[in-house]
Amino acid sequence: MNIILLGPPGAGKGTQAARLEADRGMVQLSTGDMLRAAVKAGTPVGLQAKSVMEAGELVSDAIVSALIGERLDQGTGNGAIFDGYPRTAAQADALDKLLAEREATLDFVIELAVDEDALVERIVGRFTCANCGAGYHDKFKQPKVADTCDVCGHHEFKRRPDDNEETVRTRMTEYRAKTAPILPGYEARGLVYRVDGMADIAHVTQAIEDILDRK
Ligand code: ADP
Ligand code: AMP
Repeated sequence: MNIILLGPPGAGKGTQAARLEADRGMVQLSTGDMLRAAVKAGTPVGLQAKSVMEAGELVSDAIVSALIGERLDQGTGNGAIFDGYPRTAAQADALDKLLAEREATLDFVIELAVDEDALVERIVGRFTCANCGAGYHDKFKQPKVADTCDVCGHHEFKRRPDDNEETVRTRMTEYRAKTAPILPGYEARGLVYRVDGMADIAHVTQAIEDILDRK
């Protein structure tokens, strides 16, 4: 089963992908995570992507589609959860080709619908464990024990350099202009299911699980 989680920055894609990985043995394919790893490692891709990401703009279609192709070749367990990819019409076409070449299909496109006003608050309050990457929020998902990761017990956390109000506005503009327009094409193929991303985290997961159980 291969699915896309589609929604603006802060909609909850990464949060839900992690839960589906744990519940279903699926694998999260986040181009944002792949690009951040490339930036950290100082690879040629990372060097090209760094300033684009810091500005909240989109990295080139060729780069991100190549990353996805390489990752698909490593195997995806019980299925792929595309998180943050595709983000343009060209990427949507590339994904169709990448899947067809591997005799795989796309089963669902889950749209996480969220009030735009809520997104800035979600993003500026977001942080992750510096050791295992588990995601938290200052208000909506605090660690159970203060300053201690629920998953690995580590005490250091980090925030993304692009999670500031100014960059978030650019990222939302990019989403509206380039990503939202790919939805109608998937709707025409009968793949799109809309989930209320304003519900609490566990309810969103349940709504997604209910959709995946139709298969
Ligand atoms: P995305 O991957 O779509 O950019 P995230 O999954 O990182 O978004 O979520 C952004 C922030 O909002 C995180 O700090 C996360 O803990 C929080 N969050 C995610 N889903 C919800 C929800 N349903 N309600 C409240 N906060 C949420
Ligand atoms: P994300 O982690 O999904 O919020 O992505 C962080 C940043 O990485 C984005 O603002 C873009 O600069 C870049 N990025 C991630 N995925 C893509 C993609 N599919 N296409 C273009 N740029 C991307």
